[in-house]
Amino acid sequence: SLELRNLTLAYGPIEVLRNVSLSIEPGTTTCIIGPSGSGKSTLLRGINRLHEPKNGDVLLAGRSVLKDKPDALRLRIGMVFQHFNLFPDHSALENVALAPWKVKGRPKAEAMEIARQRLAEVGLAQRADHRPRDLSGGQQQRVAIARALAMEPEVMLFDEATSALDPELVKGVLTLMAELCQRGMTMVVVTHEMGFARRVADQVVFMDEGEIVEAGTPEQIFERPQSARLQRFLSEVL
Ligand code: ATP
Ligand code: MG
Repeated sequence: SLELRNLTLAYGPIEVLRNVSLSIEPGTTTCIIGPSGSGKSTLLRGINRLHEPKNGDVLLAGRSVLKDKPDALRLRIGMVFQHFNLFPDHSALENVALAPWKVKGRPKAEAMEIARQRLAEVGLAQRADHRPRDLSGGQQQRVAIARALAMEPEVMLFDEATSALDPELVKGVLTLMAELCQRGMTMVVVTHEMGFARRVADQVVFMDEGEIVEAGTPEQIFERPQSARLQRFLSEVL
């Protein structure tokens, strides 16, 4: 499980995440929704320590991650961004194999084999030798997902993984994410795709101004929103 306890993150004197507490059970998908600037990306950055918290704690499998080195944590938590950040001069296969080989220290042949399997799982077995620039945006994002999966993470974080994609490419990536969810991956997904959150999430978290305003099942959040802030947000995005 992943647990945030009273997490507070600041940029200089400004607290952009205040006292956020959240429990995420293994094998579940949590979708984070909320207006621009509400702190969704900052929350993910706090989880994998791209940004050190000012206060509070993050527990993974019952143990504080703040005691470990950030690099060790990134072996356990995979992250997928809006911009795929693939290595442009490497093939899709090499992009996926590099981390198990260089970071985890697996033998190169084994890392390539892992990469082949992960690429097949995201539907790109036939594209293994392509450079990122010779793939569509949706395919590049699926390579980025395969790359994160190749590290066998305990948790996957997604930050608007489909926001930079052309509309016709969004569905394939969302379908892949839904499959990962069905296979029991633990996922935290920041998304503007309300349909995805409604269909796939076990838990939906609504953030505004650096706080969790409401959290609940998709029915609770989308059918019976309690706060005026969530009601207003939904009326703007749905
Ligand atoms: P969006 O939906 O637009 O991606 P978000 O919910 O992800 O928004 P964050 O990126 O987490 O929002 O930003 C939360 C707040 O922190 C915003 O007010 C933002 O301006 C501020 N912020 C983000 N990054 C920095 C930074 N590097 N330095 C200072 N302030 C920052
Ligand atoms: Mg963001």
